[in-house]
Amino acid sequence: KRELLLTLKGKESVTLDNQKVLTYANIGNSRDLAMVLQNDAEGIGLFRSEFIYLESDTYPTEEEQFKIYKTVAETMAGKRVIIRTLDIGADKQADYFQLAKEENPAMGLRAIRICLTRPEIFKTQLRAIFRASAYGRLAVMYPMITSVAEVRRIKEIVEEVKRELQQENLAFGEIEQGIMIETPAAAIISDLLAKEVDFFSIGTNDLTQYLLAIDRQNEELDSFYDAHHTAVLRMIYQTVQNAHKENIWCGICGELGGDTELTRLFLAMGVDELSVSPGKVLPLRKIIRETRVEEDREKLLQTFL
Ligand code: PEP
Ligand code: MG
Repeated sequence: KRELLLTLKGKESVTLDNQKVLTYANIGNSRDLAMVLQNDAEGIGLFRSEFIYLESDTYPTEEEQFKIYKTVAETMAGKRVIIRTLDIGADKQADYFQLAKEENPAMGLRAIRICLTRPEIFKTQLRAIFRASAYGRLAVMYPMITSVAEVRRIKEIVEEVKRELQQENLAFGEIEQGIMIETPAAAIISDLLAKEVDFFSIGTNDLTQYLLAIDRQNEELDSFYDAHHTAVLRMIYQTVQNAHKENIWCGICGELGGDTELTRLFLAMGVDELSVSPGKVLPLRKIIRETRVEEDREKLLQTFL
């Protein structure tokens, strides 16, 4: 079976009726890179950069980060690599951040909230990512966004970083900037957010947790955690439509993206990219290449509208 899948390497992820969707991989560590290449992902849709912080006992320096991002950029040789800026806090703790203990860490000081509260940490990471963008096709993505104001503040910081790099004569490339849509607020105002960024990537793990008000880490609630909940599917579809109205692309990088029971539905919605764990790339490509979507599109969409 694995051999059959390997014949799909180098082939496009395209439906029988010619709808193209990018099959990307998620990585949580540079050691996963080998798997990305072996499974012929068309890019990296989610590089969870927090491992760099979690594997260190002090703030990783710009130089340390630069080396890692440069290696990924070079290894992927011109394929898109989306680096998500640090998503620490909540379940992922690093002691040297000295974050206070919280009652509700999933709703607490985490991810972009830390970056906007402590901009020097954010700027160090952005400088490293921008410098590495001279060596490949890097994109940057911001987690846990809830408002337009946050995105505008981020873009100001990015402009500062670019100015500084220019003044120091440090090279950087063109870099796309996108956001994760993983809070209900972001999904609901995705029409406004789409005017601010180059792409969306839907984080269905957190989006489901916050939409259903169910702790994604609490196994006792597994029977209530309905990943196919109509509310989740509607939010995904709305987000895709709002992205397309502003001519930006929209992917899915949460677990749901690799749920092959939903692949046809995602194709019907017009999702542009699915980013899944490396081992799921070729099985997903197989399904996409065997699917015809146009004739059933309206009927499929009716199932959750
Ligand atoms: C998500 O929330 O769906 C996501 C992809 O990010 P993480 O699982 O790292 O929170
Ligand atoms: Mg998330």
